Amino acid sequence: MTGGFPQRTLKRRQSNRQSMSAGKPTGTVEKRVWDHKGENVDPMISVERFAAHWRVPLEPLAAVHEVYPFVLSRHFAGLITSPGDALWRQVVPDVRELDALDPFGLQDPLGEERRSPVPNLVHRYPDRVLWIVTDACAVHCRFCTRKRRWSRSMPLTEDHVRAALDYIQKNPSVRDVLLSGGDPLMLPVDFLEALCAALREIPHVRILRIGTRVPFADPRRVTPSVARRLAAFQPIYINIHVNHPQEISPESREACRFLADAGIPLGSQTVLLKGVNDDAAVLGTLFTELLTLRVRPYYLLQMDLMHGTAHFRTPLTAGPQLMAALRHRISGLAIPQVVVDLPGGLGKVPLTASAVVRLEEDRAVFRNAAGEEAAYPLEPGEEERVRRLLGAR
Ligand code: SF4
Repeated sequence: MTGGFPQRTLKRRQSNRQSMSAGKPTGTVEKRVWDHKGENVDPMISVERFAAHWRVPLEPLAAVHEVYPFVLSRHFAGLITSPGDALWRQVVPDVRELDALDPFGLQDPLGEERRSPVPNLVHRYPDRVLWIVTDACAVHCRFCTRKRRWSRSMPLTEDHVRAALDYIQKNPSVRDVLLSGGDPLMLPVDFLEALCAALREIPHVRILRIGTRVPFADPRRVTPSVARRLAAFQPIYINIHVNHPQEISPESREACRFLADAGIPLGSQTVLLKGVNDDAAVLGTLFTELLTLRVRPYYLLQMDLMHGTAHFRTPLTAGPQLMAALRHRISGLAIPQVVVDLPGGLGKVPLTASAVVRLEEDRAVFRNAAGEEAAYPLEPGEEERVRRLLGAR
């Protein structure tokens, strides 16, 4: 298989190395970003400029930025309406990220590194792999599960590409490859296309998927040409990360239209975030609007236990309660599945009674399909509410 990966594209990728390394700390300079042809198109907003624009003190933002870099597209910055709004909270550094006293926080909450048989490829479920093809993103979500990689980027080298393709080829159980990151739609489209083409040469890979926030975070990157080129690799699914109706703009509507018109099925992933979208009216608006964009709400995710993100975590009962409040009020088509991705890389389980094995004083213990158990912390006093809501033992 390795011989099948287009050398021409790998060479082009190396010449576009800047686009692959976006997401590294930049200090005081504005980060340059690159379009799908590898051309410099638009600077990201620097933390200094952002603080000056909103007339907020730079020092606290810069202190967090030193550890967990600030990255913000002009587009997303333009959707923020006031300090502390739902978009601000998602992307602006918060000193609570540096909180050393996060007893449940983990640097690699989904155990991805120990489940990587080759660099940047995570094999967690028997029939699927997740391939981290870039660390670049249009925005740095402050609650990101992979923020460990922001200042310790693990670029996809030519050797890594070969190793991943070899691994997939030698494992016929792998039928489904999810390209993730970072954000695959930050890559030059030639390179992304070459990855898809190489995967399509492996007969047992039946389905390709792309996980991205670009259609809402930097939608001008999605052109009709990009959509058509990706649609050449059917069946290919795109799952879009979107958390709040304020993220929906004329440009993101257009990006979704390009992808849907090209024939690519679209789904959404929404992270349930305290103080951002833990509200039935907000989620109801988001999910029903997504349907108008031909994006099917797919997952509502309980926060992963990423270190320094406890201020975003909602109680385990919040997701099921919110969806119960929305049932009958909005179409069943607009209701996503509420899931928790179990710590340690045990995979996603639905947040339902059948997944909970037992409740302990400060945690709920879940069991995955393989019979493995993992615990998720409960908030003080939450045990009884979980017991009632889930009917758990
Ligand atoms: S877009 Fe995804 S990978 Fe990038 S920072 Fe946000 S959550 Fe993390």
